Amino acid sequence: MEDSLRMKAKLKILMCSSEVVPFAKTGGLADVAGSLPLFLDKLGVDIRIVMPKYRCVKVTSDETIIRENIDPVGKNISNGVKAYFIKNDDFFNRDNLYNDQYGDYPDNLERFSFFCKEILKLIKEKNFIPDIIHCNDWQTALVPIYLKILYKDDPILRNIKTIFTIHNLAYQGIFAKEKLPKTGLSWDLFTIDGIEFYDKINLMKGALLFSDLITTVSPTYSRQIQTKEYGCGLDGVLSRRSKDLCGIINGIDYKEWNASIDPVIVKNYSIRKVNNKTINKLSLQNQTGLKENRNIPLFGIISRLTEQKGIDLLSDSIDQLCEMGLQIVILGTGEEKYHQILKNLAVKYPRQISINIKYDAEFAKKIYAGCDFFLMPSRFEPCGLGQLISLRYATIPIVRHTGGLADTVTEFNKKTFHGNGFVFYEYSSEDFITAVKRAIEVYSNKKLFKRLIKNAFECDFSWEKSANKYLELYGRMVKSHIG
Ligand code: ADP
Repeated sequence: MEDSLRMKAKLKILMCSSEVVPFAKTGGLADVAGSLPLFLDKLGVDIRIVMPKYRCVKVTSDETIIRENIDPVGKNISNGVKAYFIKNDDFFNRDNLYNDQYGDYPDNLERFSFFCKEILKLIKEKNFIPDIIHCNDWQTALVPIYLKILYKDDPILRNIKTIFTIHNLAYQGIFAKEKLPKTGLSWDLFTIDGIEFYDKINLMKGALLFSDLITTVSPTYSRQIQTKEYGCGLDGVLSRRSKDLCGIINGIDYKEWNASIDPVIVKNYSIRKVNNKTINKLSLQNQTGLKENRNIPLFGIISRLTEQKGIDLLSDSIDQLCEMGLQIVILGTGEEKYHQILKNLAVKYPRQISINIKYDAEFAKKIYAGCDFFLMPSRFEPCGLGQLISLRYATIPIVRHTGGLADTVTEFNKKTFHGNGFVFYEYSSEDFITAVKRAIEVYSNKKLFKRLIKNAFECDFSWEKSANKYLELYGRMVKSHIG
């Protein structure tokens, strides 16, 4: 009886994220924060989203409805999810989300402390009292800390549970200790069992200690971050909370990423009309100034350009890769050092490499659709969306066996025909080049490659499965709370 009553009351979730598609995006977090709620909505959850109102957010009110898209212009289909925007022009009306050409904005602690405080005010203002606040990455890490410390006796807020999702442990929100008063927290918390970390403030550490549950974006990454090698100094804290840590693989929105209806790509294609993919390839070669030839294997990279993504490995391997006669199109922005490395590669191999230093969502789709292969030689990868999107466009991923890449890409076996890509293990040029060689060998056998393309098309990394896992987790948290 009690259970059935509970089933009837909709679960209320507030999803907090510093970036959300379609409003603002620098990486995979925005994709997840913009698509997972739509699927939870379909599963009957009353879910709402809150994010900062940056300059790039083109909405006229402080709330709006995000609907499921079938095209980038946003024709509506389903109920949609309400999103709230926290406004403060001094903090958020800027060109970028977190940094400018000189580095991180110096007031990021103030900006995101403000964001977190406003989230808790919003709950009361809108009278939307969630069962669970779902926080994502360090920008929202103060929410569980405030709840447990500042609001532990608040009659409305004290019963709200928190879940904290790590999208990337490498970004922890570390600040000079002198800034502590800006958070509104007292020095009592600045201890080894609190937010102190090598004499600095570490917001993510605080969230890992004070959230009721922790998730990360793949099962392999959830194990890796409990080790010294991948734990970024927080492996001890994570191991201690091992029981409350769970890895759920990200999905992607299969309506947004869909080669058969995508309005941005040159020619739509599907498993039945796979030859049309070649039209996208020829057009991409033409657009990037590479030789138009359907038989030259074309590789793509779309990435933030940071140490994580293996650009140095690509650079170290480039001579041997280019000797194989392949072509590479790279789209990305990030650290100046990598911009320079890539520009030098393009100067050295102008006929084989196209470098595009920018953020361009439409061009990204043309690369996903036009390439034969997609490279992700990452040092570490919490989940990775690039390989999931590329599979959706039947562009074969070549990945390093780490994090979510290990959970989603398996080596193609020429005998059994199982597998959806190519996988290498060591972070070394040798292993990377060998994987590319294996890929080209399969590519040169039309029948085998066709089979591999079929396998890629048949993969299912839509949100359905993973959204259900989140729902299960939410359900357990609320139940344990009531019970
Ligand atoms: P991360 O979150 O570490 O940046 P993911 O692979 O999880 O990496 O997600 C990256 C997302 O951002 C993908 O949707 C990818 O297509 C997109 N992306 C990355 N760089 C660019 C770019 N320069 N232009 C357009 N889209 C990009």
